[in-house]
Amino acid sequence: MNSPSGPAPDPEAAHTYPEAQIYMDHAATTSVDERVLAAMMPYFSASFGNPSSIYSLAQDGRKALDESRDTVAAVLGARSGEIAFTSGGTEADNLAVKGAALALRGVGNHIVTTAIEHHAVLHACEQLEQFGFEVTYLPVDGDGLVSPDSVGAALTEQTVLVSVMLANNEIGTIQPVPEISRIVRERAQRDDRTIVMHTDAVQGAGYLSLDVGELGVDLLSLSAHKFYGPKGVGALYVKRGTPLEPQIVGGGQERRRRSGTENVPGIVGLAAALEFAESRREATVKHCSRLRDRIIDGLTECIEDVRLNGHRTRRLANNVNVSFQAVEGEPILLGLDFAGISASSGSACSSASLEPSHVLLAIGLDADLAQGSLRMSLGHGNIDEDVDSLLNVLP
Ligand code: PLP
Repeated sequence: MNSPSGPAPDPEAAHTYPEAQIYMDHAATTSVDERVLAAMMPYFSASFGNPSSIYSLAQDGRKALDESRDTVAAVLGARSGEIAFTSGGTEADNLAVKGAALALRGVGNHIVTTAIEHHAVLHACEQLEQFGFEVTYLPVDGDGLVSPDSVGAALTEQTVLVSVMLANNEIGTIQPVPEISRIVRERAQRDDRTIVMHTDAVQGAGYLSLDVGELGVDLLSLSAHKFYGPKGVGALYVKRGTPLEPQIVGGGQERRRRSGTENVPGIVGLAAALEFAESRREATVKHCSRLRDRIIDGLTECIEDVRLNGHRTRRLANNVNVSFQAVEGEPILLGLDFAGISASSGSACSSASLEPSHVLLAIGLDADLAQGSLRMSLGHGNIDEDVDSLLNVLP
């Protein structure tokens, strides 16, 4: 069971889960760490002031906002002024894609992205197509990897934006973002023009380095509820000087990049959660990847015709995605739920639709096999007994 008493990489972390539940859907969302909740609490009531107000009552909120920005910037290796808080990963992606493309519409009208991005990126690109942009949706290989050379080959004189996710939310494949960024940067330098490089790092936080210098990106999206922070708050790293047209206008908060009174408790929660996630990252990766590999090996041994989706090694430490021949994902999910195990088929964000996952189709699965897919995403609270239960029940 998920329990703070398990051999977890962060013994201080505390989560309240319903009794006897095994939670294996951390890519959909996570519970708020109780330390994060405690950090947020004062900003709901005692220190409720609007951080833009000048009287002393509001200063606590302003200070908390500044400190949260410093914390997030430190994890990313960025400057504080380069962090803009948003209402979540979806808004961060929308601001990145539409904000950069529209700011550069006088320079060019071409965007390069991949076929397996989250819908927050894909649908933002589709919206831009209605405004005259052309978008190249790069294919990926059977493991879900996009080749850096294919990005280079797709760049045209009109390209103003490249958006490639750090790690995929469904199949966990980790993209070669540093190599892609280098190719994009070299082309921009050669042609003496601006090509903005964005990465959706929503699934990477807590598992991968978010160092923006190493990644070589201009924009990077985060969402707090994926790393034991609250829902409804995210952040966009905006490298100094990156052209960005605000998508939400009003009072000019967040250096005019995102108007609206700041969600101070949420932002404090995001920063605290990111700091905890980063401090235990190495231990979490070690812990989750061991459990992940136990699941993959166990399923391959005891179930015939099981296919692992995503790259075997270049994958998130907490992600298992498998497909079964001639079985649908939904009944398996219900069966697992009956056994007290929460998992997912496809991505939670698209589970309202019966369409097969665009990610699984893009890596070459046919519609039937894509329908028979199951994602287990682990967290630092999962323990060996959780894996034992899954391996007992699933076959
Ligand atoms: N990007 C990726 C890769 C995601 O997995 C998600 C959520 O599942 C999002 C963006 C959207 O984030 P949010 O739920 O904070 O809007």
